[in-house]
Amino acid sequence: MTELDRLASDFGNAETAIALTGAGISAPSGIPTFRGDDGVWKRFDEGQFTYGRFRSDPAGFWADRLELHREMFGGEFEPNAAHDALAALARDGHLDAILTQNTDGLHRDAAFVGDDSPADGITDAADATILELHGNARRVRCTDCGNRTEAEPIFDRAADGERPPTCDCGGVYKPDVVLFGEQLPGAVIQRARSLARESDVFLAIGSSLAVEPAASLPRLAASSGATVGIVNLESTPCDGVADVVCREDVTEVLPRLRDLAASG
Ligand code: NAD
Repeated sequence: MTELDRLASDFGNAETAIALTGAGISAPSGIPTFRGDDGVWKRFDEGQFTYGRFRSDPAGFWADRLELHREMFGGEFEPNAAHDALAALARDGHLDAILTQNTDGLHRDAAFVGDDSPADGITDAADATILELHGNARRVRCTDCGNRTEAEPIFDRAADGERPPTCDCGGVYKPDVVLFGEQLPGAVIQRARSLARESDVFLAIGSSLAVEPAASLPRLAASSGATVGIVNLESTPCDGVADVVCREDVTEVLPRLRDLAASG
């Protein structure tokens, strides 16, 4: 029996199975990661995208954010075999929640959940709960009245020179994502922690596990007795607490895992 066979059988037997995903699951869809050799921080200055900069220099922030947004999300992209495998595991009843650090909305697409994500980032969909820990880049939010709206037309207005773009109420729009230096919504982080504590199987996929809360969720799951798996091309700071580490491409491992769990 391989380690993946064992992990698949744990998924089959789990009362609560959770996946935590990071930028690496969307890299095969053509969306660059932040870190690593091809990561956007090789071409952009991470320090320009903080909440502090948004507050003190919204026009400059929007000029830079527009470039970053077009670089990351400018092309056509769709869910890949790894997103589809997680959606299939959920449909099969083997996966209860997907906690994602990604803001690209691809788990929602794979699960056909639609794009009208709720304000708190928590969607209790029929097959699985989807938690968008860092928000959703397909929306912007007015910092005064809280109105949320589709991001692309607002980015187009910023490209046409309206920087910062503003809401009908006069408030400044902010991408509906958690910026560096900004707090995660309390409800989403509490739910993520309780799911990690409840889980019998916790699989971290395509994340460097370098940023909180992702960095501590696998440890929380391990200390609560879960079987912890990690699928990532590079080593992570959580490898030591994992029962299974697959240093392989997500699009290779996840479909295999789903097939094994389905046939087990
Ligand atoms: P990260 O960039 O820190 O790490 C990504 C990890 O994925 C790396 O360790 C890399 O080795 C691995 N990886 C890349 N391609 C892979 C593949 N095909 N198979 C397996 N592993 C692969 O990203 P992170 O851990 O998600 O954390 C940083 C932040 O990046 C998060 O806050 C997230 O919001 C943001 N982000 C999101 C997106 C997105 O929405 N798609 C893209 C870039 C960054």
